[in-house]
Amino acid sequence: MSRSDARPRRFPLGLDKVASAQPAADKLLRPQAHMQLIERERRHQGAPQGLGLDSPRVRARMVARLRTDGIGHEGVLAAFERVPRHVFVDTALVNQAYEDTSLPIGLGQTISKPSVVAAMMQLLCARPGLSAEARQGTRPLGACLEIGTGCGYQAALLACLSARVVSIERLRELHLKARRHLDQLNGLISPWADIRLVHGDGMLGHGPQAPYDTIIAAAGGEALPAAWTDQLAPGGRLVAPVAGAAGAQVLTIVDRLPDGTLKHTHSGAVLFVPLKSGLA
Ligand code: SAH
Repeated sequence: MSRSDARPRRFPLGLDKVASAQPAADKLLRPQAHMQLIERERRHQGAPQGLGLDSPRVRARMVARLRTDGIGHEGVLAAFERVPRHVFVDTALVNQAYEDTSLPIGLGQTISKPSVVAAMMQLLCARPGLSAEARQGTRPLGACLEIGTGCGYQAALLACLSARVVSIERLRELHLKARRHLDQLNGLISPWADIRLVHGDGMLGHGPQAPYDTIIAAAGGEALPAAWTDQLAPGGRLVAPVAGAAGAQVLTIVDRLPDGTLKHTHSGAVLFVPLKSGLA
């Protein structure tokens, strides 16, 4: 006889015993209903789902860091304060949403680092077609074209400072994801925000809405596509990562001066995902 056979058998309990231990259906406690209510309220306030983070305060800390790092444009800082970055990243990464880091957004792509996005936006605000006063105005980016929508975070930031934004993404899945994310903002960014998401090859720019006062690329190629400079309005500015010497990417600024000529300048080294042609 084995040892287990020698003991009185307690488990599993017979079905008759288990059934009698159940409370009546009308007495069932439903703690999940309460949790759902809290969750709904939290979502309504724009706080990270399932986390105890006070996101407006975490966002304010991120903005203070950007300011310390040299971002001085009040409109750019206000946009970062307003747009909830956690809405744009996967749930598992929500607690890293306000760190100054790039994060995976699926399909091998990344949401760019806040400090890099802020620096690029600040550069755009200094486009040559604007007076010093207009640079600090409410819509310094004018008509804006973004190449590489990704998760849609930067499109939301740009919308806070633009008259209208056209944002192109070559990966359909990300294009749709960005739309879902932006739909969740529900007026958190200005109700008049005009963001048009396009599933297309950004190397061609977007002719139907051209010209643009500002063009920003979130992906870096070997050279600047001609369509981008062609679609840049007089007084406009383009900021994009472009491969430099030894393959390293350099942030490139192209201004279309009021007389129509182009002026190229280079800023620091950067690291963006590759600009690819064609759709997927
Ligand atoms: N601004 C984005 C960053 C996305 S990463 C954000 O806030 O999340 C860069 C994106 O550029 C990727 O999604 C990539 O698919 C896209 N991309 C690369 N080449 C492209 C092209 N030719 N046209 C449009 N999008 C492109």
